[in-house]
Amino acid sequence: MNIAVDVDDTITDTYEYILPLVAVNYNLDLKKLWSNKPSYKELYNMLPDYDKFIKRNYHVLANIVPVKEDAIKVLKKLRSEGHKIIIITSRNTEEYSNPYKLTYEYLVSKGIPFDKLITNVANKGLQCATEGIDVFVDDNTKNCKSAIKYNINTYQFKSNFSSPEDKIKRVNNWQEFYEIISDLSKST
Ligand SMILES: [Mg+2]
Repeated sequence: MNIAVDVDDTITDTYEYILPLVAVNYNLDLKKLWSNKPSYKELYNMLPDYDKFIKRNYHVLANIVPVKEDAIKVLKKLRSEGHKIIIITSRNTEEYSNPYKLTYEYLVSKGIPFDKLITNVANKGLQCATEGIDVFVDDNTKNCKSAIKYNINTYQFKSNFSSPEDKIKRVNNWQEFYEIISDLSKST
């Protein structure tokens, strides 16, 4: 199967890493911030000059952000079983000077296996359709809805800040994702 995988908050714990830095930078109470769990868009809307904060910090953070538990192990296993891993990220040139190079080097340095990396993707559903994707996994509700629109079998990766929607299938962790793919492989 062709499996499309998001990067931030699907492979990596990006949000958990950015929030403390936001708190320090803007002199905010981290506990309060945690309890409000603002989305990236909400951070952008509520904090002054957040675009400058992004430009200054995201490229540094993106190099050192931790990988989620079991992500590497499961992706390696899936690839060794013959599945294709296509990494599709919305990281773009407004946030990073070279999102492809930065993400590529990060994935390689962490030993995350992939067959193809696509950055700057605004419409993930369309991109999945173009790439012939069978299964798509992403934490972001908008991206999941976009893929569902293109009839892609979509799973929303559990995150600390997205609220679940009934009509989107959820996956809680990487081990669970492995089992989903195993079951799908058996039934096809
Ligand atoms: Mg994401």
